[in-house]
Formats: sequence, structure tokens, C-alpha cells
Amino acid sequence: MKILITNDDGIHGRGLKELANVARRFGDVVIVAPDRERSACSHAMTLRDPLRVHPVDFDGLEAYAVNGVPVDCVNVGLTVAYPDGCDLVLSGINLGPNLGFDITYSGTVAGAMEGAINGIRSIAFSLAVFVAEAPAHWETASKWLEDNFEALAAAPWEDLTFLNVNIPSISYSELRGTRVAEMGKRVYKDRVEKRDDPWGRPYYWQGGMALMSANQPHSDVKTVSEGFVSVTPLSLNWTQRALAEQVARSGNWPIDLS
Ligand code: MN
Repeated sequence: MKILITNDDGIHGRGLKELANVARRFGDVVIVAPDRERSACSHAMTLRDPLRVHPVDFDGLEAYAVNGVPVDCVNVGLTVAYPDGCDLVLSGINLGPNLGFDITYSGTVAGAMEGAINGIRSIAFSLAVFVAEAPAHWETASKWLEDNFEALAAAPWEDLTFLNVNIPSISYSELRGTRVAEMGKRVYKDRVEKRDDPWGRPYYWQGGMALMSANQPHSDVKTVSEGFVSVTPLSLNWTQRALAEQVARSGNWPIDLS
């Protein structure tokens, strides 16, 4: 099994090491990751600057640091390491959750999206540490991944789909299991904070507290908050078929869906 691994926390991210150390037991691994942290870059790609690709020492694995974002890394990886394609694109393990609407901002998820666009089975992994001071239970993520790697790699899969996996940051003995759940909602309050610089000029810092209402039945948010790993199949076919039919009817426009 030929495996390409990227992330958005950068080549020095702890989660990248954990993911690579598990994946190497199941196949040939090549790592292509941003040379620095590029979290929340979403599905961006670098068009106006050259991409520089530097081989790096990664515990005996073939690995490259790229001055780009996860999408760049997947495409560079498919050019440099796997010109004939690969079997699996893995992205992560991100430090922090990618639940609900986080998916739309996430560079980690974008890495898996780019794999899916290239027709490759792809999976994004995140360790759901919710506050900066909370312990990151990498050992739980690593153990869960080891136990479930083969199932993930062999799971039913369709074109343009990928899996989004969130592992709660709790001890392995506290982990209650795994659930397939749907994308929930994760809304932030006080998203933009106004501050003053030393010269009294205002500046704004975006971040904010996530309003993690776990009261969302079936959601990835609820699943992880209850101590289960969430596995969410996602599709890049964003067409809302039911709504398309209603829109066509309301405008009296012809509809052309497969
Ligand atoms: Mn990140």
C-alpha cells in the first residue's frame, strides 16, 4: 500500500509523527508537509510563488518540507514521490478538533479533500483537544489508529468522498468507542476581539471561543464530546439535489441533474 501523508501543523508537528509511525507498519509512507504551521488555510493553493521542496530527515522515512499549504503538499507528493498515484492520502493528526463547520476552515481536511479530488482514498485525522492547556493524548490517537487502520483503509469508498476522523483527547481507557456520525455545527462566539496596540491604535484578533453545544443529535460534535471517536464520510459533490428540484420548480427553469 502506497501512502502519502500531509498535515497543516507543519513538518515538525507531533501528530504527523504519530500518524507516520502507525502508517509505516501498514505500507510504504512518503511524507510531504508544510515547512511551518499552516492551520486554518482551508483548501488554499499556492499559485503566485514557486514551491520549494526540501528533503528532510524523518526517522528513516522519505519526507519533504514544502513552502506551501496542504493542497500544495498533496500535489507535490503526487508529482515527486508517487507519479503513478498512490493508494491512500492521510492528513494529520491535527492538534485540535475539526468538527462541524471547522471542516470548511481546516487545512487538515483540505489535504484529504485534495486527495479525493485526485481520485485517491483519503482520510483527515484530528485530536480533539478543545483548550490550549488541556493535555494532548497522542497515545490515545496512536493506539486507536493502530487498532482501526486496516478497517479505515478497506472501508467502502466512493469517488469524491473522504473520511473525517476526530479522536477525543482523553486517556485510552476512557475512550468509549467509535461512532459514524454526521457533520454538526460548531459556532464561535466573540469571534473577533478588538484590542489596542502600544500606540493606541486598534487591531483585531480572530479566534474566539467555540460554542460547543453537544446537544446536536447524531453529530460529530456530540459523538466526540461523549468520548467516542467520530468517523464522518464527506462528499465533494456539494449539489443539494432536493433543493435543486425545488429551485427549478420555483423559477420554472429546466433542471439538469444526473
Ligand atoms: Mn492545524
